[in-house]
Amino acid sequence: MAESTDVTTPVGETIALRDGTTMPAVGLGSLRMSPQQTDTTISSALRAGYRLIDTASVYGNEAAIGTAIRDSGIPREDLFLTTKVWNTDHGYTETLRAFEASRARLGVDYVDLYLIHWPVTPIDRMLRSWEALIELQQRGDVKSIGVSNFMVKHLQALIARFDELPVVNQVEYHPLFQQDELTGFQKESDIVIQAWAPLGKGGVLESPMVASLGEKYGVAPAQVVLKWHLMRGRAVIPKSTNANRLAMNIDLDFSMSEPDLAVVDAMNEDTRLGSHPDAPPTNGLPDQ
Ligand code: NDP
Repeated sequence: MAESTDVTTPVGETIALRDGTTMPAVGLGSLRMSPQQTDTTISSALRAGYRLIDTASVYGNEAAIGTAIRDSGIPREDLFLTTKVWNTDHGYTETLRAFEASRARLGVDYVDLYLIHWPVTPIDRMLRSWEALIELQQRGDVKSIGVSNFMVKHLQALIARFDELPVVNQVEYHPLFQQDELTGFQKESDIVIQAWAPLGKGGVLESPMVASLGEKYGVAPAQVVLKWHLMRGRAVIPKSTNANRLAMNIDLDFSMSEPDLAVVDAMNEDTRLGSHPDAPPTNGLPDQ
């Protein structure tokens, strides 16, 4: 059982969402966090000041996350839980059923942010899932609704059909993969980008440019990259199962100059590390 956390003050800034809610700008990703690792990792993260936990039905750790957050003793309303409907659960009734299963595994009354995990085809079936998300929000079962891995064309398909737009699109985003067209579109539509693999799965931390910025600001390479995301208006969900790195990833109380932010902007190589949205993973791992 996780130790009850003694941290009652969340660390870090929040982002205002278009639907009037606020979301922690830094959250904890939980992909490939086994149920065995989950208990200690969530406990360390909450102690370090994290309040947003990102999971998905396909990650297989919703129940363990639910247990860890209950054990922490932190009031539910102080936490921000995100989960996602998987590709095989699209359609109106299917999505409502998948949500009930996620909610039961998490053991919560409501979910803060419920996302369509991937833009699957046929598009009409996926749009029926969006209708289910709207219904869940209207019932109060979820506070905010959003999408993940959507390209501009997928967002346009939603916008053409619905007044209720996603407040968040969770997509792959790191210095080597910056989605300029999507960024511009989402800025106009007031849809927050939440970066998955914000550290490029750890790879970009080897960059000499990032290392020298770290030396300049007296912080670690990961902190440079995460701060760059935040100062560019993106939310982030870095994953770590190491208590020191967890604490470091949310300790971002410094500021970078515009020229230094531009140094990181200039690292873009359009190198995607995960699946292309038009070819989503079919069975979860490795880049669900
Ligand atoms: P990240 O960019 O978060 O990188 C994680 C890797 O970086 C791990 O190997 C971790 O190792 C290492 N790391 C973390 N912090 C540091 C640090 N401070 N210094 C050095 N190394 C560090 O990639 P992920 O793929 O894990 O993405 C994050 C989250 O995004 C996922 O956990 C998941 O919740 C979400 N996601 C969503 C997807 C979607 O389709 N919506 C797809 C993929 C991910 P260690 O644990 O040893 O610290």
